[in-house]
Amino acid sequence: MMNLIERLVRDSLPMPDHREIADWAADQVDFGNMEAFKGHYNVENVPWTMAILQAFRDPRVRKICVVMPPQESGKTKAAEVCLSWRICERPGKLAFNALTNVKAEQWSDTRWKQMVGDAEIRPACKAITERLSHNRHNKKKRRFIFRDGSFLIIQGAEVDANRQSDSVEVQINDECQLWLQPWLSQMHKRTRAFKETHKILNIGLGGKIGSEWHQEFLNGNQGEWSHHCPSCDKLYQYRFNLRDPAGSTIRFDKSTVHVLPDGTLDFTDFRATVYAECPHCHARIDYDEELLAKMNLDSLRRGDGYVFMNPSAPPDVVSLHTNAFALGRRPWWAIVEPFIKATMGRSVFAT
Ligand SMILES: [Zn+2]
Repeated sequence: MMNLIERLVRDSLPMPDHREIADWAADQVDFGNMEAFKGHYNVENVPWTMAILQAFRDPRVRKICVVMPPQESGKTKAAEVCLSWRICERPGKLAFNALTNVKAEQWSDTRWKQMVGDAEIRPACKAITERLSHNRHNKKKRRFIFRDGSFLIIQGAEVDANRQSDSVEVQINDECQLWLQPWLSQMHKRTRAFKETHKILNIGLGGKIGSEWHQEFLNGNQGEWSHHCPSCDKLYQYRFNLRDPAGSTIRFDKSTVHVLPDGTLDFTDFRATVYAECPHCHARIDYDEELLAKMNLDSLRRGDGYVFMNPSAPPDVVSLHTNAFALGRRPWWAIVEPFIKATMGRSVFAT
C-alpha cells in the first residue's frame, strides 16, 4: 500500500516508476465491470502472461515473441497493459499493428477505447487520458497524440506503406500467424533507427511450420509454460502430437471412440481416457480445472514456469509459448477431440 506522502510525491513529480508492469497495472488499470476479470488488473488471473510484462520492461530485451491460444490466454490484454505502461511511464513513438486497417479500426474502437475511455465510458487506465493532448485523436481514431508530442499509431500491416513509413521505437504486432511473408521483417525494420532501445512485441497463435512467424519463435529462447508435477514436483510440459505418441505427454485411448452405424463418432467413453503423464515419475494427472488453476499460480509464484528449450538464444530475443492444455480453461478431451475426429473422420470416409 502506498502511504499519503508517497502518493503526494508521485502525483506532483514526474518520477520514473520502477515497479514491475504487473504492479503498476494493479494500481493504474481498473476494468470495472467490462472484462471477464472484473476490477483492478491482476496478473494472477493470467499467470503465464507475467513473463510478457517482465520482458517488455527489461531494457536488455529488444524482441518478444508470444504464441498463445485465442481469447482466454490474455495475451492481447497483456500487450495493451504494456502499451499503457509505456505511454504513461516511458513515452515515445509507439505503434500497434493489426493485420488489416479494418481490424486496426476495430481494435481502436473496442479494446483500446476501453483503456482510454471516451465521453460515454470510463477509462480503464485514467493515467493515459491525462497524457492525451486536447486534440485527442483524428477522425479515424488511429493516431493518438500525447502532450509531449509522443504518439501511438494504430494501423494494418496489409498496407505496404504502413510497413515502410516513419520510424517507431515501440511496436506491437497482433495476430502474427496471419501475416504474409515478409511483412514481419519489413515491419521490424521500422524500429531500426532505435537500435539500442527499440522494443518489439509480436503476438499470435501457433502458425505454419517454416513460416516467418514460426522462425521468429525459433529465434528466441523458446520458453514453454510448465507445471510442477503434483507427485514428484518436477516441471513438465504438455506435449500433444498424434504422429509422435512417444514424445507426447498427453495420453488417450483411441480405441474407445465408437463409430456409429451412420458413420459419426461417439466420444462418450473416450473422454475419461484423456490424461497427462509426468515424463519424470510417470504419474497420471487428470484434468481438473481447480488443480490447473493452482498449478498455474504455483508456477507464477515460484517464478520458474517457463522452461527454455533454446537457452543459447541471444539474450535480447525472448519467445514464450503457452498451450491450451497448460492454460487449463477447457477440459483436455475437448482439445484432443477435434484432432482425433479429423484423422478418424478421414479413415471412415475412405473405407
Ligand atoms: Zn512427476
